[in-house]
Amino acid sequence: MEEKQKYIHIEKIKLLYQHSLTPILLSAVASFFLVAALWSSANQNHLLIWLTITLCFACFRTGLLYKFRRARPKGDDILNWEAPYSISLLIVFLCWSIGLIWIMPTNNLSAVFILNTFSIGLAGAAISWYSPLRYLQMASISLALIPMIIMLFTLGHQETFWVGVAACCMYVSCMITSVLLQKTFNGNLELTYDLAQAKIQAESIAATDSLTGLNNRRAFFDKAESLFAYCRRNNQPISALMLDVDHFKKINDTYGHAAGDIALRNLARLLNDNLRTSDLSCRFGGEEFAVLLPNTSGKEAIEMANMLRKMMMTTIIALADENALSVTASFGIAESGQTVEDLLNRADKAMYAAKNNGRNHVINYSQVMPQ
Ligand code: GH3
Ligand code: MG
Ligand code: MG
Repeated sequence: MEEKQKYIHIEKIKLLYQHSLTPILLSAVASFFLVAALWSSANQNHLLIWLTITLCFACFRTGLLYKFRRARPKGDDILNWEAPYSISLLIVFLCWSIGLIWIMPTNNLSAVFILNTFSIGLAGAAISWYSPLRYLQMASISLALIPMIIMLFTLGHQETFWVGVAACCMYVSCMITSVLLQKTFNGNLELTYDLAQAKIQAESIAATDSLTGLNNRRAFFDKAESLFAYCRRNNQPISALMLDVDHFKKINDTYGHAAGDIALRNLARLLNDNLRTSDLSCRFGGEEFAVLLPNTSGKEAIEMANMLRKMMMTTIIALADENALSVTASFGIAESGQTVEDLLNRADKAMYAAKNNGRNHVINYSQVMPQ
């Protein structure tokens, strides 16, 4: 099933479970009224048996809704709840439609018309409550009306014949309404899905650096705060790594801005491929990148930075026109700080020290500011 169609189907099943308690309770109340209305004219044993069966199904279906609420299924699991819902609903409609014929005193026209009113009420309930799933809605309307229509035509009275014709019109009208409702319903759910997707896409664009695909600065700080707090809470070390490409201006001047872009993309890929999934990286600005390394001591961060530095040095970046280049970068490491900003400031200072030290170096903040 296509992703969008699956989403819509799942939403429909959820809606059915969320809104079905009212029709179940109303149908139980209606069955009492029906028995009261026919008590003096119909077979009372039949009425009591039918009432008992109807109430048992109402209890069973209430239990099913309760089970769904307790289970709180998510995603594809919700699809497994469709069959029990649909089968139990269709059995209830069958019980009502065949039951109405069974309890009908055919020699009493007013009782016949009372029962016809109830079957039309059932069709109305099917339209209003079970509209999310088309097959369910159409099947329940048919179960509510077709047996009654057949009965009205076969009773052989002129009155029941014309009421049967009216019930046929009602049936056709219900079916047309069902189709129209389905269209509106699907349209609304499709719109909801499209809006949700557009929101996810917009959020991802807002958080991503368009050139490198890494986090941008804003997204980095959003995530960095919770990562930093998590490490502090769990007494884990957290280190920061800042790197700035060396003499990048010269690369732009020599090979052109597009070549500089290719080099930045390559560098981002190198970071992506070699950092752990728990590490948080971003393009901090221009040709400068920042990485937060949770559960990593300063010593381990220096090892990681040296590994990245050597990889950068030895990676040949192919350019258009058979040109190629490699870049180096200067790295600053910090392993302690009161806040994320503090940690990054220290790593930045260490990075500038690495620049002053001849570039293509890794320097720890503790070497710059010995404690
Ligand atoms: P240093 O070793 O001191 O860092 O020298 P540098 O040349 O790398 O640093 P400088 O700050 O002088 O120059 C950075 C250059 O990076 C200038 C800017 O045009 C270039 N730059 C910034 N963002 C981009 C970008 O998105 N694409 C390209 N191609 N160049 C960029
Ligand atoms: Mg630079
Ligand atoms: Mg720079």
